[in-house]
This record gives sequence, C-alpha cells and structure tokens, in this order.
Amino acid sequence: MSKKIFLPESDLPRQWYNVMPDIPNGLEPPRHPATGKIIAPADMQAIFPDALIEQEMSDRRWIDIPEEVLRILAIWRPSPLVRADRLEEAIGAKARIYFKNESVSPAGSHKPNSAIPQAWYNMKAGIKNLTTETGAGQWGSSLALACNFFHLGCLIYMVRCSYEQKPFRRSMMKAWQADVIPSPSDTTQSGRSVLAKDPACPGSLGIAISEAVEVAAGRPDTSYALGSVLNHVLLHQTVIGLETKKQLDLAGEGLPDIVIGCCGGGSNFGGIAAPFIPERLGGAKIRFIGVEPSACPTMTRGHYTYDYGDNAGLTPLLKMHTLGSGFVPPGIHAGGLRYHGMSPIISALVREKLVEPVSYHQLECFEAAVVFARTEGIIPAPESSHAIRAAIDEARKEENTGKSIVFNLSGHGHFDMSSYDRYFDNEITNFEMPDEVLAEAAKSLPKFGFEQNG
Ligand SMILES: *Cc1c(COP(=O)(O)O)cnc(C)c1O
Repeated sequence: MSKKIFLPESDLPRQWYNVMPDIPNGLEPPRHPATGKIIAPADMQAIFPDALIEQEMSDRRWIDIPEEVLRILAIWRPSPLVRADRLEEAIGAKARIYFKNESVSPAGSHKPNSAIPQAWYNMKAGIKNLTTETGAGQWGSSLALACNFFHLGCLIYMVRCSYEQKPFRRSMMKAWQADVIPSPSDTTQSGRSVLAKDPACPGSLGIAISEAVEVAAGRPDTSYALGSVLNHVLLHQTVIGLETKKQLDLAGEGLPDIVIGCCGGGSNFGGIAAPFIPERLGGAKIRFIGVEPSACPTMTRGHYTYDYGDNAGLTPLLKMHTLGSGFVPPGIHAGGLRYHGMSPIISALVREKLVEPVSYHQLECFEAAVVFARTEGIIPAPESSHAIRAAIDEARKEENTGKSIVFNLSGHGHFDMSSYDRYFDNEITNFEMPDEVLAEAAKSLPKFGFEQNG
C-alpha cells in the first residue's frame, strides 16, 4: 500500500466535466431579480464575460481547459490523493479512508481551481478589473492570486468582522496586489444603505456580494467573480474528482463506495462528486454525502425554492436550497460555510436523492479536526473538518466494513489558528438553530407568481 497516490503532470485533466446534462429532470433556469422572468444570457453580460455565461448554461458534457489555465494549475496540480491509514488506525475504522489534498494550492484551498479560469476568461474578454466578496478570506486570496497572474486589477469586499479578525488573509491579498475594503463600506449604495441602518454592522457575505456586484455593474471594464454556487464554478472544480478517479484506479480501488465533502456554496463537494455521477446513474452503488454546519442548515432545514444570491436582491434568482437571503448566519468558525444558499446543481442532486445532506455541530467537527491533525499531520480548515467528521463516522459503521471512503480536504487551517486556540481553551460552543429564527429568515424569500416544480 502506498501512502500517497501522485499523478504525473501529463495526467492533469484537459477537460472539465459538466454534470448539468446528466442531472435527472434537469436544472430550472435562473430568473430576473426584479421581474421573476427567465433571464436571457444577455442579462448577465453586465457582470460576466460571454465565455463564462456560456459555461453557466452549457449542455456540453466536456469543456476544454485552456492551455494557459493548465499552465497555472500545474503549479500545484495534480494534487495528491492520500490514504489516511494512520487516521484509520486511531479511530478503529472498518472502512478504508482516502482524502484528496486540495490544501496544497498557493492560497491553501480548492478555490484557485476556479479563480484561475475565471480571471483568464475575463482577461481574454478585455476586462481590466475584477470585483468580488470574501468572508473568511479564502476566495479573496484565491482571486487575488489569479488576477496577479493575468495582470488584472482586483477589488475585494471583505466581510468586516473577518477583515478585523483575519489580518493575515488580508496581507496575502495585498502580497498578490489586490485592494481590500471592509464591507459594509461607504463606497457603494448597497453598503451605505446598510450602514445608515446599522453603523456597527459586522457585515455578511450577502452584503459584500451586493457591493461587489454593484461596482462591476457600473463599470464597463470591470466584471464580478463568484467563488462558489454557480454552475461554472462547480464545472471548474471537477478537476478534483477527475483526478481522484484516476488515483483510486491506481490504488486498485476502482470506484469508491462513499464520497464526502463539506458544503458552503457546494463547489468543492460538487468538484469531487460530480465526475462520479455518470457511474452512479449507470448503477454503481456510490453514496454522496454533503456536510453542512448545523448552525447554517441550508440543505437539511432550508427551502427548495427560487431565491436571491445576495442581500440587496441584485443577483439573478436561483432555484436552490436556501434559508432566505435575509438569513445572517451565527459566527461559527467555519466562515466558508456561512452562506444562506446552496448551488443549484447540488440542490437538484439532493432533490433527486443522489446526494445525502447531513449536518454537524462545530464542536464535534473540531474534535475530528484535531484527531486528523494528530494522525495525518495536516491541520485542516474548520470547513474541511465537517467532511472529516462525516468520514470518521461512516468509517466506524459496521455496515461499511471493507468499503472505501474518499473525502475532499478542501483546505488547511493555518489562518484559522485563533479558532483552534478557542477550541483548546474550551471556548467553542455548539449553536442550536431555533425554528423561529429560520422561520423569520424565510420571510425574506421572494414572492413571485410563477410555477415552481419540485
Ligand atoms: C470556501 C471554502 C469552503 C466552502 O465552499 P464550497 O463552495 O462549498 O466548497 C470549504 N472549504 C474551504 C477550505 C473553503 O475555503
């Protein structure tokens, strides 16, 4: 048995896999935020370049990865698949556990897999600047890295409480030449209207998205880039699962029995899971488990309906699992999982019962993270610890004896050590999300008269 399964650079995937045409009963189209009508591709041209709009709606199964994108991805890809034998021994696992190590990218997570192609397509379209939002700072640093390579300006609205708590993520963005503004800010209409109501507002992803979209919509040389949720982002992340497939073959495993990922907007989980969907539809008994925090229970307790992606209602309406765009998630430590919605692709896979959603509290995830750090050596991101928790629990089940489990290690936790300190000092508590809070947030769901299926 070898510990790590490496692929040569020549095995870097040359095409992304688009799962959209393979989703039973398909996806429902995005709708216009003001009218509720199905939107045309042209409606998105104010903020996205044509190539990405095309990918967002594409029904082609395979889409070529541009050479210049491959050249940058090759800095860290193919990423290793690792047999977690030391973790297996420590927890008395009955199943074999593998993890795909996406923490080896320069930004420390899977997010550059999409930041690089998004920046490249924008550069090709003649765009000079990108705007975006960032919560914990993972997406902001990934887009800063990508813009740096392709000589684009990068303006990042960073959720104010993270801006104050995570100064080193900010420093990373500066090292890669991005400008970082704490959100809500007085640089946009959306930011000013939030500040007028609450000058001390700690910010949220929904508010920061509104600010970034507003700036991009108002400047012809500027586009917006989103780090998760959208179809083209999940498409770019499929390099993870495509490599994993080859690596499991090399390890003599063939198809895995269980595929696990943590879910914020759904992109790293979609990236590892989607390439296995054709085999599952062909009859292979693969289980797909998407793990979310109990404090932000989008798939397990949310509604499957059309909703805005942001707080001000500027983004298209997407059919997805959502808690309502007015939901402000509690300050749990897995910042990247604090989002009110879920990718339409993952939501549709949940609808079709192809993906099983589960939720965990943060305390049990930190416990799993520390076991992982002390056996496999890598200190995981608090987000990734949700996948580790689920992998440990599945591996211990009698019914999974002799099976294989693969989970995505979406990132490392080197910039989250203050959260670990709080865990070591017994200051981390679980958050029971009351029904009343969810019911209140659901009042922010848009009310349109169109027919909704499913
Ligand atoms: C952003 C982030 C996530 C959550 O985003 P998805 O789009 O659901 O993948 C998970 N893990 C890490 C390390 C992240 O930075």
